[in-house]
Amino acid sequence: MKHILKIVKYTSELWRYYAATGVLTVLISAVGLLQPLLSGLAIDEIRKGGGSRVGFVVFLAVAIFASDFMANVLNNINGYLGDRLSYKLNRLLAVRYYNHLLELPQHFYDTELTGKIISRLDRSVTQLSDYVNLLTNNFLQFIFGTIFALAVVAYYSLPVAGMLLLLYPIYVYMTTRTSGKWMAYQSEMNEYKDVAAGRFAEVINQIKVVKSFIQEKRELSYFDRRQKQIIATEKPQSTLWHTSDVRRRSVLNVIFLFVYLYIFVQGAHGHFSPGQAVALILYSSQIRIPIFTISFLVDRTQRAVADSKDYFEIMAIKPEITDRPDAQTLLVKSGAIDFEGVGFGYDDKQIVLSDISFSIKPSSKIALVGESGEGKTTLTNLLLRLYEPQKGSIRIDGQDIQAVTQKSLREQIGVVFQDSALFSGTIEENIAYANPKASHDQIEAAARAANAHDFITKFEKGYESEIGERGLKLSGGQKQRIAIARALLKNAPILILDEATSSLDSKSETMVQEALQRLMRGRTTIIIAHRLSTIQHVDQIITIRGGRVDEMGTPQQLAKSGGIYAELLALQRAGTESTEKKLQSFEIAG
Ligand code: ADP
Ligand code: MG
Repeated sequence: MKHILKIVKYTSELWRYYAATGVLTVLISAVGLLQPLLSGLAIDEIRKGGGSRVGFVVFLAVAIFASDFMANVLNNINGYLGDRLSYKLNRLLAVRYYNHLLELPQHFYDTELTGKIISRLDRSVTQLSDYVNLLTNNFLQFIFGTIFALAVVAYYSLPVAGMLLLLYPIYVYMTTRTSGKWMAYQSEMNEYKDVAAGRFAEVINQIKVVKSFIQEKRELSYFDRRQKQIIATEKPQSTLWHTSDVRRRSVLNVIFLFVYLYIFVQGAHGHFSPGQAVALILYSSQIRIPIFTISFLVDRTQRAVADSKDYFEIMAIKPEITDRPDAQTLLVKSGAIDFEGVGFGYDDKQIVLSDISFSIKPSSKIALVGESGEGKTTLTNLLLRLYEPQKGSIRIDGQDIQAVTQKSLREQIGVVFQDSALFSGTIEENIAYANPKASHDQIEAAARAANAHDFITKFEKGYESEIGERGLKLSGGQKQRIAIARALLKNAPILILDEATSSLDSKSETMVQEALQRLMRGRTTIIIAHRLSTIQHVDQIITIRGGRVDEMGTPQQLAKSGGIYAELLALQRAGTESTEKKLQSFEIAG
């Protein structure tokens, strides 16, 4: 009951539908009471034989028809409203979930499988809206129908009403007693389902890797093992349910035995007229049907509660990174960046960065150099405020990034990633991702500056070519240039290039390099480069070792200091195989 209230409360915007079905349900239940009453009256009238009033019994027959017809129409209106309600509910729950997920910090996605997140949404939303539909179509009717029927039975005979009333607590008690165990099985099954769905989505996304390692069989058997576990858990769950159902229904059968005995014996003694006895029997069986549906309802309630648990669990996760109530809009005039005493780890176990302090002058270019895994990407994550440092602060033009809105912060920073992710859609839409209102001329100008215009216009449909899953397949260099055009169109004063050219062949690299040079012009740029040639032209190099800033200076200064950069230069000059390896550990190609 607590859970039902929670679900209704959570979706209180739909109260009009809840209220309407509530009213209809009362009406339907009231109409349902008429038939036994009218039948009883008819039987008593018929018993009078020759003296009975034909007009009256005809009236009763028509009244029974009318009440049937009313019930028919009302039931369908109620069903219609229930359908509307469940679809509206579906939308409400799904959109809320999506909205919440979009607000959750990067941290959340590091530990969750994509397929799992989707599988949970699917299950929870379907179950919840089906359940609410069931509630409005059956549950309320069951409650009101029973209350009314009991009241009428009590009017005829208190003992019968007493016996019937006794059924409910016994039945509900017996059903809920097993529910804890039942739910535990269900949670276990859901976990297997989520794991299977998570792996499924990963495999489909990376089918090339799977095929190249010829692991289709293993992935299939992994999936099938989870399915087997689901089946293995379903078995004791179902056994539990059905054995307890036999017990419950036996209690019901015994109570009904007494109810019938009482009615028959009292009737035989002449305490009830035949009409009254028939009415009582009809009312009792009106109660009997909903009693059977109790177990069905409890079953569905348990399922809905178990299946929506994950939904509410995810909804309860607080977005760790939020705008302060007094958050300002970040204003970037020159684009100076200061890291001051920044310390950070993704978790408590491992510190990735400690005491990082450096300043980047407005519109200058700096290169971050360090071995793979030293925390270069992490530094840029912190600047984007995808994670929050545990120590220290980061300022842009003197404003602490924690004191400004995330929207205004991210508006001012353009990023070109190593593997530039594009969305399915046209090339034009992809370039205009940051600014859907951009004119075609603006988009084309960005594409030209990104060295992308020429290859785009060679496609049959040019800028309108579809890319992504169902469209054109682009090469790494082409994708990268579209990503650069996208960043150019964003026109942010601060730029992050995270190994933006590392996966390219040398021809497309030249094209991309040129495009990047244009993109960097006049912007404060942080480059995580993998070519010494790129690094040689920056204003400042920051080397990172052991999670700390090791050296800072111009390429000329660091070339002579004997540190990491000097070492890399020497290695490049030597150009042997072993030096190649060493360079590679810095993600640097000679
Ligand atoms: P780089 O870009 O210098 O190669 P990263 O900044 O990506 O290095 O990673 C720095 C360290 O942080 C590595 O030890 C890596 O394992 C760890 N790390 C990176 N991303 C995450 C994450 N999302 N969750 C936990 N640890 C991470
Ligand atoms: Mg990196």
